[in-house]
Amino acid sequence: MGLQTERGGHGRALRGFMLACVALMPIAFVEARGEPDPDRFDVVVLDAGHGGHDEGARGPSGLREKDLVLDVTQRLAKRLERKGVTVILTRTEDRFLSLEERTAVANDARADLFVSIHANASKSRKPRGIETYFASLEATDDAARATAERENSAFGAAAPNLGSDDPLAAILGDLIATQHLQESSEFAKLAQNELADIGRARSRGVKQAPFVVLMGVRMPASLLEIGFVTNPEEEKGLKRAKRRDEIARAISRAIGAFAARYDERRGIEAKHSLAR
Ligand SMILES: [Zn+2]
Repeated sequence: MGLQTERGGHGRALRGFMLACVALMPIAFVEARGEPDPDRFDVVVLDAGHGGHDEGARGPSGLREKDLVLDVTQRLAKRLERKGVTVILTRTEDRFLSLEERTAVANDARADLFVSIHANASKSRKPRGIETYFASLEATDDAARATAERENSAFGAAAPNLGSDDPLAAILGDLIATQHLQESSEFAKLAQNELADIGRARSRGVKQAPFVVLMGVRMPASLLEIGFVTNPEEEKGLKRAKRRDEIARAISRAIGAFAARYDERRGIEAKHSLAR
């Protein structure tokens, strides 16, 4: 957060990125048709937000989002690997990665699910709790739009600023609607329920907003805000290994439940280890 951007130039860059996404779609369809076997749920890409010079949010006592989410992501990866899931991490160290690089990792891996992990921030110290997002051109509300703008700042862009009369907006809208929307929404609900179940967690609900990192991937995708680092009490909790393990366990359970449904829909017997 906090990057001051020149709207014009970055708006153009974002538009170019989106056009590239649209241009790549027909290739993806052809490749998908060429695969004879139904695709078992087995590959997850976990994306720890921010990194390097992009610190993300910072708590009142100094907890940095980029460090917190990398640690939680690594704890989650270990759990999933124990369940037999192939896990690919967009980053394993404190380095900067563009949003395009993150989506490219997921698309190259042909992952079955993309989960981007972030922590929330507010100008006020009051807000706390868990939010889960899936992509949409329209934000659920002003707060959701502000969150997307903050998380999109790694792209050097404000939230996509496409008018409803823009043909590109119509194409992207259709893409988001037809590509994995149902499953993204399903995973978001599972994750939100599991995360909100952690002791003293507050559920702020499943929301939608134009997150660039979610719009660039060709698979079910969700962005998790695992708590507000700007809330002093929540920051204190998020500093603890116990809380981080609880969060990793909750997300792992959601992925397991999602995997079972994913395979069932495709007529594949789910791996027992994943359903646990
Ligand atoms: Zn973030």
